[in-house]
Amino acid sequence: MDERTGLPVVGMVGAGQLARMTHQAAIPLGQGLRVLADSVDDGAALVAHDVVVGDYRSLDDLRAFAVGCDAVTFDHEHVPNAHIAALEADGVTVHPSAAALVFAQDKGEMRRRLSALGVPCPRWAPVDTENDLAGFAEQVGWPVVLKATRGGYDGKGVWVVSSVEEAAPVLASGTPLIVEEKVAIVRELAADVARSPFGQGAVWPVVETVQRDGICVEVIAPAPDLDEDVAEQAQALALRIAHELGVTGVLAVELFQTADGLVVNELAMRPHNSAHWTIEGSTTSQFEQHLRAVLDYPLGTTDPVAPHTVMVNLLGGPDDVVPKGIDERMHHCFAHWPEVKVHLYGKQFRPGRKVGHVTVVGHDLETLRRRAREAAQYLMVGDAAGTVPAHG
Ligand code: ADP
Repeated sequence: MDERTGLPVVGMVGAGQLARMTHQAAIPLGQGLRVLADSVDDGAALVAHDVVVGDYRSLDDLRAFAVGCDAVTFDHEHVPNAHIAALEADGVTVHPSAAALVFAQDKGEMRRRLSALGVPCPRWAPVDTENDLAGFAEQVGWPVVLKATRGGYDGKGVWVVSSVEEAAPVLASGTPLIVEEKVAIVRELAADVARSPFGQGAVWPVVETVQRDGICVEVIAPAPDLDEDVAEQAQALALRIAHELGVTGVLAVELFQTADGLVVNELAMRPHNSAHWTIEGSTTSQFEQHLRAVLDYPLGTTDPVAPHTVMVNLLGGPDDVVPKGIDERMHHCFAHWPEVKVHLYGKQFRPGRKVGHVTVVGHDLETLRRRAREAAQYLMVGDAAGTVPAHG
């Protein structure tokens, strides 16, 4: 409890863009977020005032950070699960719990549990040896998808392989792996929900996540032309997973839509890129909802505020660390696309790195998509995109 405000203190381990946007949502709740940052230059450390610099892999650092927090939560899933369990044993309130978070930390554990619950997943198997892999591929056919069970993000830790020979270097690396059939994906969707410790659930409309090279580049809310039954099925599935796994906070369920229905790709138990659109596009953003959930406040309404919302990620172009001309490009962007909302994460620019996003809400989906893409491309590469905005 913060004596000055009479309000609880939430600590978030990790100080990237998710913590930065959670801090932004904490302000109207009368709070600021306490963050455990790797460095004072982290995106959230640049804006929050209660910043602790420490190592999320160190139990001592985590324990020191948790002192005075009413609830501890996470901006990423890399904190060792045993450390989270140790904090719980100390009496710290942690959301999500170690027991739930393991299913977002380890793809093998996730597949095992979801399969046991009868949740549709790609056919999969744990894999250690070339023989395991050959046996699996014989059943499902090549190519197959190898995945590191831990530590992957944005497609790193995912390898599509067409033969045992091609897989050999990955297998030899000693990284714990699972293998999955290569699903014939029609498109990728996400069902984002929140669940409070009390057990209240809230669900946003199902979105389409447009991917390029294993990275989400665009999110369309709601997913265009998605059959109402399928949308309801996805939402019910996500709420059921949240309930069965005892998730507290936001849960993102990444889904593949196939000709035969939905299958779950993976789970994230924190605010997620697929729901950044909720900042402008929903009555309650995922960041506020995550805070409400970890504090066991009643959850907010999730209705969309307009028929369509489009979010496009800003991926660093081939530019400097501090990109030349970004200030001027912001100026032109605001002049040319006044309806586009820009979010920059305070991160250094590197090629392909998510450094921000833009969002636009409205009525005509094709126009919204075009504007969001043009604005994003202009912000990242300027006139090289062939888009020369005029003032006005
Ligand atoms: P990450 O943890 O890096 O986000 P994912 O498991 O989400 O990894 O996989 C990244 C991308 O790879 C997915 O968005 C999808 O496009 C593709 N992918 C993953 N698993 C499969 C699969 N079994 N079949 C086909 N494509 C897949």
